Amino acid sequence: MSRFTLPRDIYYGEGSLAELKNLKGKKAIVVTGGHSMKASGFLDKTVNYLKEAGMKVEVFDGVEPDPSVETVMKGAEAMRKFEPDWIVAIGGGSPIDAAKAMWAFYEHPETTFEALITPFNFPKLRNKAHFVAIPSTSGTATEVTAFSVITDYHKGIKYPLADFEITPDVAIVDPAIVRSLPAKQVAYTGMDALTHAIEAYVGTIATDFTDPLAIKAIKMVVNYLEESYVDPNGKAREEMHYAQCLAGMAFSNALLGIVHSMAHKTGAAFSTGHVPHGCANAMYLPHVIEYNANNERALARYAQIAMELGLEGHDSRELTQSLVNLIRRMNVFLGIPHGLKEFGVKEDEFLEKLPAIAHNAVLDACTGTNPNPIDDKTMEELFKCCYYDTPWKF
Ligand code: FE
Repeated sequence: MSRFTLPRDIYYGEGSLAELKNLKGKKAIVVTGGHSMKASGFLDKTVNYLKEAGMKVEVFDGVEPDPSVETVMKGAEAMRKFEPDWIVAIGGGSPIDAAKAMWAFYEHPETTFEALITPFNFPKLRNKAHFVAIPSTSGTATEVTAFSVITDYHKGIKYPLADFEITPDVAIVDPAIVRSLPAKQVAYTGMDALTHAIEAYVGTIATDFTDPLAIKAIKMVVNYLEESYVDPNGKAREEMHYAQCLAGMAFSNALLGIVHSMAHKTGAAFSTGHVPHGCANAMYLPHVIEYNANNERALARYAQIAMELGLEGHDSRELTQSLVNLIRRMNVFLGIPHGLKEFGVKEDEFLEKLPAIAHNAVLDACTGTNPNPIDDKTMEELFKCCYYDTPWKF
């Protein structure tokens, strides 16, 4: 038996935020991050639309990037006091992820993170509230996925939560909210979306239900990301907001692969500074394709992507090479380095930390659905390709 789960309703298009006026309920709590939604006026709009729907509204703001266990507990406490029947999360991935976890602790105060991290083992939600997600970036697609990541800073652990119970009921994908995204963020989050779609398409549990979403998302990112990067006001910025959402629908149901395993373990690993998630994905993706292409089935899938994109090549190898070349050209256009060395990670630090990073990447939850199995030693070699920007033979 397979399962394919998406939000009940996805509203999209310029101005679709106004759909909030039509929600039926008594009380809504709005969960958001720091300042950007307030500064852009979208937080006020959200609150006002909910009031127009006849609801009492409370705001829980200040959710930090990489949200903490404490923030989740504070938010859940606020929800238990206010008793909302709608949770409305607006912002980047962090406030939406945090609100998903708050929802679980609001409805089930007795649960623990230790219980929730067992994949697809959540208690039933929706006894007290339903959930609306409104993304303000074009990449994570948390508005349509079954995932959330919460950090325990005391224990130094990230809790990846995965269950269709936390797939939102309503997603509002309004391109007006992403017009003001900085170009760098457009580049990183756009390449994150491309990675989601490609990993979902070649992964071991891709299905007939997820493939069309993944392929369409790949085509849209390839067609629109560069234009969206240079022009915030055109159609491309809007199309990218939809493309990342389609990619999210695919990977929420087909999961990911080792590009994400590697990015997860290198984000905060080096003293030279944070490696942004989308930037890491963009740098690793060409090399992971080369590595995975040693698997016959994966090679055929990459070749299929290349054919769908109309790329050159007489056989699967040439087609896959064209796909790798295309991604490398996009990275150049978007100002993304080719590897960790060019990014600025010091060589001695990289080599010293490599065995532990590689080991942890192999253990990452995303490794299980990667099309080509990998062990610690091979992962070290692959990381070296991603550091020095040397090709993996296929
Ligand atoms: Fe991602």
